[in-house]
Amino acid sequence: MTLDTLITNARLLLPHKGLTDGVLGIKDGRIAVIAEHKADLAAREVIDCQGLWLLPGIIDPHVHFGFGSPETDFETESRNAALGGTTSALSFHRSKDIRDSFESARNLAERQSCIDIGFHFGITSHLHVQTLEEISTRFGVSSYKLYMMYKGAAGLAQGFTDIDDGLLYSALRETARIPGAVLGVHCENVEVIPVLRDPLRAAGRDDLRAWNEQSPDFLEAENVHRVCYFASKTHTPVNIVHLSSREALDEVRRHRQRRNGPPIYVESCPHYLFLNDESPAGPYAKVNPPIRGQGDVEAMWEGVLDGSITTIGSDHVPRKRATKDKNIWAASNGFPGTGMILPIMLHEGYHRRHIPLSRIIELCSANSAHIYNMPNKGSIEIGKDADLLVVDPDLEKVVDPATLESHADYSPYEGMAIKGWPVRTLVRGRTIMQDGRITDEARAHPGGHFLRRL
Ligand SMILES: [Zn+2]
Repeated sequence: MTLDTLITNARLLLPHKGLTDGVLGIKDGRIAVIAEHKADLAAREVIDCQGLWLLPGIIDPHVHFGFGSPETDFETESRNAALGGTTSALSFHRSKDIRDSFESARNLAERQSCIDIGFHFGITSHLHVQTLEEISTRFGVSSYKLYMMYKGAAGLAQGFTDIDDGLLYSALRETARIPGAVLGVHCENVEVIPVLRDPLRAAGRDDLRAWNEQSPDFLEAENVHRVCYFASKTHTPVNIVHLSSREALDEVRRHRQRRNGPPIYVESCPHYLFLNDESPAGPYAKVNPPIRGQGDVEAMWEGVLDGSITTIGSDHVPRKRATKDKNIWAASNGFPGTGMILPIMLHEGYHRRHIPLSRIIELCSANSAHIYNMPNKGSIEIGKDADLLVVDPDLEKVVDPATLESHADYSPYEGMAIKGWPVRTLVRGRTIMQDGRITDEARAHPGGHFLRRL
């Protein structure tokens, strides 16, 4: 057999083995050979890793492509992802009737993206619940998100009339009927927020900590309790997305002790592991749930180590800097981050906190492949997609938005020196990034596939 590509002199991260010296062969976009020595393997292309790491591509289960420039986000943001080692991303699709809107969203993604793309459906109405099984099987989508943030008055302001606990319960019940499906929930008690926010605003506060104080940890934990409790009654696998606080994580731990309870997954984000509410990023780091204090940052790392956090997602929102250059109350919500997952986890997790590399990759790749039904992704094994990263753990770069390819022209991490970057990104065997640049080939022919997951 002549291979398409042979990767030599690599330190491969293999499941249950850790970093292992060896070579890897790719044929037709898949991993065909893993061996100790190159022996008599022949290939059309040879990549010499020169002793660097070879890791599975990062899977980002939480991006909002389309919130920056709907026409071009899949192009720019997929490039931003590839620069940092993210090779698959799941983006949120939301519309009045998903049956009418989904195909054009998928086609746009396939035309523009240089990484593989799947979707979650946003559930905001009873129509979405009624059509959930139909749209899931028809479009191959097995995960959804319900926004408790748009409940009541907050929802009406956005045009959402149906979001209440009844919608939550019926969405849970319907999700349970779809094998392999999981319901993600944004947990913050939005009805209490104004009670805390209005006095802070009236007092003239304009800082990141005030943003934390207007939606404190217990408003997240209260919603986590409600979701987990209802999920136990409907036997629905649930996913607490972008979890930010110790209080909320402890609530998940408590509910997981229930006998015969459904799986409860937890996603956290690089920013809850790396920034605190004293960060000089100010409004650039405004997000919901808010960036917390250092005690919560420490709690998130404890959750990474003890396995109570399942996955890491970026919650990538690629709006322009101009939407952020305002006071904390008026600045837009969210910020870009999909291309920062691996660098931050290596810099802060591997280097500074000595978190095992295999644990980092479990959370940033393997676990998402598992819970979101992507059997061909998530680890370096024969037969899986050759989504691979050549990583230089000692390469240090200062984050500069001008080189990140995103529609967003800022980063909450700009100016920071971060150690641990991919120098080459392959998607299904094809190099789309080399030495910090998207290849001309990937610019001309993006080549991303739609991830059908049901
Ligand atoms: Zn989000």
